[in-house]
Amino acid sequence: MAFYREIHKYKPQDTKSIKRWVFVLYDQLSWLNPLLTPSDSIATPGDSIVREEICLVFIETSAKPSKRSYHKQKLVMLLSSMRHFALEAAELGYSIIYHFDQVGYANGLNSIAKLYQISAFDCLEIQEYEVEDELKNLGSKLIYHSNNLYLSSKEDFYEVFPDSKEARKKYLQEKFYRYMRIKLNVLLDPNSPKTNPKPLGGKWNLDHENRSNWKKSESTPKPIPWIKPDSITDEVIQLVENKYADHFGNLKDFGWPVNRSDALIWLEHFVQHSLINFGKYEDAMDFEEEYLFHSMLSPLIHLGLLHPLEVVHRVIEEYNKNHSINDPIPLSSIEGFIRQIIGWREYMRHVYQENRETYQSTNYFNFTSNLPDLYWNPDLGMACFQSIISTVLNRGYSHHITRLMVLSNFANLLGVDPHRLNDWFWIAYVDAFEWVVTPNVVGMGTYADGGICSTKPYVASANYIKKMAPSYCKNCKYDATELLGDTACPFNALYWNFIGENEEFYSYSGRTDFALANWKTFTDEKKSQIRQQASAIRKKFLNQ
Ligand code: FAD
Ligand code: SF4
Repeated sequence: MAFYREIHKYKPQDTKSIKRWVFVLYDQLSWLNPLLTPSDSIATPGDSIVREEICLVFIETSAKPSKRSYHKQKLVMLLSSMRHFALEAAELGYSIIYHFDQVGYANGLNSIAKLYQISAFDCLEIQEYEVEDELKNLGSKLIYHSNNLYLSSKEDFYEVFPDSKEARKKYLQEKFYRYMRIKLNVLLDPNSPKTNPKPLGGKWNLDHENRSNWKKSESTPKPIPWIKPDSITDEVIQLVENKYADHFGNLKDFGWPVNRSDALIWLEHFVQHSLINFGKYEDAMDFEEEYLFHSMLSPLIHLGLLHPLEVVHRVIEEYNKNHSINDPIPLSSIEGFIRQIIGWREYMRHVYQENRETYQSTNYFNFTSNLPDLYWNPDLGMACFQSIISTVLNRGYSHHITRLMVLSNFANLLGVDPHRLNDWFWIAYVDAFEWVVTPNVVGMGTYADGGICSTKPYVASANYIKKMAPSYCKNCKYDATELLGDTACPFNALYWNFIGENEEFYSYSGRTDFALANWKTFTDEKKSQIRQQASAIRKKFLNQ
């Protein structure tokens, strides 16, 4: 194997000369990791460390991919990014141990410790709990350091939600987001007092400006600058094709960045071409333009190839530069994007950390059905699924509204077990990591957490989908406007049936609920027809 031959040249020759052994996990591939900095405060006081005295330890293991049938592109992305990072580090003068282990990370580290007589490894705090759990048996052999690849700490979260864990059952993202704006000094009115900062433009949240659908005649999204795989990635593609041939997804078109320089190209592409329209079309969906104006930066940030704060600063820099010209980037685009990064992304991480146990089993509506075949192979003529699932198969990606308002919505309306849906998302998306996928699916997507992170279930009929994605419904064999009959869109009867079945929930939640008010105007005969139609749809999709 060319990569292994090459990287082994950088093994430490004289282990006594190594002063720090740093375990680098696949989602910590950042030069901002302070453990990689020579002569920093983590060294023994008075000690000075040069690069050659730091040994970076990487572990590739087949144990992780054998747990779930992860998308092949995700495996390529992780492994190739790790290999690129290790080679870059070697070229910079670090010593490298790149180890393959069939059993897992803990076994790998134990073997390396024995071989090189290492008493302890340093490591940034781990975000993936499955890995953290596995590494527990290393005890004091692993010394954790605060992970600076995120923008907020537990203390920040407690500062915003200071009550006891029990009382902190429901957390408002908006509250946390405003705190983060102030903490990071982002988009604040420079004329407002420091003691009571006000938002730039007068409003903290401009979401109401971000709800347009998109038509072909409007600004055309620029094609994504997919990256041609280099020889390192080609080698990983071969490995994944050989070893994980039965995993989810296709590898033919792999083009994700796997190193920092390509990640920066994607950040620039987003800032130059998509940012201007990000806000306006944030909730839009389209049959052909599957990426619209989304950044597609999530996996790059998760792996450490981009730091969330550098992304935020670059966006603000562009806004300031662009401000005085004729066609400026609207503040709603900037605010909307920054809210996702410093608000939603950080908030979801804390919500999950606080409630990890609950999220393993919570199932508010007690849904137990299997996930229909449609999620693996969209051949039932629903154009929305056809478009979204083929992008997921080919790229391991689809944007937020497709995940929320089509894929999660439909599963919820069918009564699918939220944990089976979570497993599917975890497998199918390149940006799916436990801390972010689970709260999004079991929380925001399905309300299975009973409202810890959202105020209502995101369920909708075809009415919503047709409004935000007219091109889906135009290309579909079903009719979005019909409720009953063979050609009626399946979302419709399932939606009204959901409202009817959860009448008590909607009445209890106390808000003025238009859906429930409408349901109550239906005659008994209409309600009964809806129930029958919903039951037939369930049978069809769930093979019951
Ligand atoms: P953009 O639309 O360009 O948004 C910018 C950035 O904001 C993203 O890159 C991401 O870092 C951040 N962001 C926005 N919303 C969220 C959110 N709710 N949680 C965390 N970060 C957010 N995101 C993941 O990273 N991994 C997942 O596995 C994942 N699963 C999801 C499952 C469901 C059911 C839902 C409803 C959402 C999920 N999300 C997940 C959140 C969101 O859909 C993705 O972060 C986003 O689509 C990534 O694409 P993008 O980079 O083009 O995002
Ligand atoms: Fe999807 Fe229904 Fe529209 Fe078809 S009609 S694309 S199934 S929402």
